[in-house]
Amino acid sequence: MSSYSAKKALRSRNPSTGAVAGEVPITPLEEIPALVRRAREAQQSWEAVGTVGRCECLLGAAHVFLDRAEEIGHLITVEMGKPLAESVSEVRSCGQGLEGELLEIQEALAPEVIEDGRLRSIVYRDPFGVCAAITPWNFPFSMPHWMVLPALAAGNSVILKPSEETPLTGQAYVDIVGALLPNGVLQIAHGGDEQGKALVRSDLDLIAFTGSREAGKDILRSASDGLRRVILELGGKDPLIVLEDADIEKAATFAAWNSFRNAGQVCVSTERIFVCEAVAERFEHLLAEASSRRVVGNGLKPGTTIGPMVNERQRDHVLRHIEDAVSRGARVLAGGSGHHDNFVVPTVLTGVTDEMAIAREETFGPVACITRVANEEEAIRRANDTPFGLGAVVFGSQERASQVARHLRAGMVGVNRGVHGAKGAPWVGARESGYGFHKSRDGHRQFTQTRVVTQGR
Ligand code: NAD
Repeated sequence: MSSYSAKKALRSRNPSTGAVAGEVPITPLEEIPALVRRAREAQQSWEAVGTVGRCECLLGAAHVFLDRAEEIGHLITVEMGKPLAESVSEVRSCGQGLEGELLEIQEALAPEVIEDGRLRSIVYRDPFGVCAAITPWNFPFSMPHWMVLPALAAGNSVILKPSEETPLTGQAYVDIVGALLPNGVLQIAHGGDEQGKALVRSDLDLIAFTGSREAGKDILRSASDGLRRVILELGGKDPLIVLEDADIEKAATFAAWNSFRNAGQVCVSTERIFVCEAVAERFEHLLAEASSRRVVGNGLKPGTTIGPMVNERQRDHVLRHIEDAVSRGARVLAGGSGHHDNFVVPTVLTGVTDEMAIAREETFGPVACITRVANEEEAIRRANDTPFGLGAVVFGSQERASQVARHLRAGMVGVNRGVHGAKGAPWVGARESGYGFHKSRDGHRQFTQTRVVTQGR
């Protein structure tokens, strides 16, 4: 972690080339209380606009996101490296989904009447006040969006602290959405963890955080002072279980996609694979073959499917995990060498055992780690043997895989597919992957204080 309090400008660098992509002014730590005061002043009149009025206002962002998807997508690729088409689609999906999202929020926040024949209660969902949204770099447009949008729609004012790796994308988000709102309702603080910590210590009502487990724990400790509300969406160590009766081709295709997309820098990446012995050989062969079809390179270059690691620190971390695993007996089925600059060659390892760091810590890199298991019971036991609990996936016959799914202790489980749920379903972690939701009725309600007013009949 570098110190940002001593510097004035935060430079964003292209991880593919090392070139400077741009810079933003760092928010001095002593200015953070003033940002919070300004947010508090702006909040009351924003609350008074009402949910419908606020949603109408925010809907104006949809066409801007769509019109500027190519340009902002380019910025995302230049700042953090992912293939251009994925960056553009990240921005576009925020535009395409906006209207539905706002309707969902309005339904979630509408006052609810509860009567029991004797009493009549009205349940209101009011804003908390000032919310900080602190976000990571791996989806640098949609992660701010998933937190800032419901916070604003609920009537809070928001200070976004985007990742120090992707400040330009965070700034673009705030420029677009902030232009639709009264002054002070949406502001930005730039810098690293010091700015994040200073924000967390300031006079906030709600802290919405997406990022690593370590930072989440630190935030929770700080927030306990004053019992400020927190929403934590943290990391994972997602398992993929491949049962004997799985469609092995589909399972291997999924494993390659979900281990390598965004260079493995996804919170619900497949980080551990438990495959039943009877089908292991074929699965390993197909996965190794699929990995060799990946094209590693600059995300701006057509045809690239895997970009660089976001920075040198992340690259070193991933390479350390691979080296440690190999030194402890893991076998390399694909990749494993030929890495250069920030680019890590997609790697498939088998024979991964519990004492290897790659089996226990979040890797966040393009590595597929296979452990052969005797049967379904062993697969379940080992899949659950982690403090994390974000996502999990099971491939097998629909019936067996669905049964296994109910034994997994993750917040989201995909059966013969990834973990993304149906429209309206929450994005939710369990255990040390944090608590709180993204999206869905329950997710939107977290940005509000429930108040009940009761009268006799
Ligand atoms: P990170 O925790 O290092 O940083 C996230 C943000 O928090 C940044 O803006 C950073 O400056 C700030 N920060 C860091 N330490 C802080 C502290 N102690 N107090 C306040 N702010 C602090 O995470 P990252 O490297 O940017 O992102 C990768 C992590 O995010 C992975 O663990 C990944 O699994 C997780 N993630 C989770 C989800 C989810 O939905 N659960 C989604 C995306 C990413």
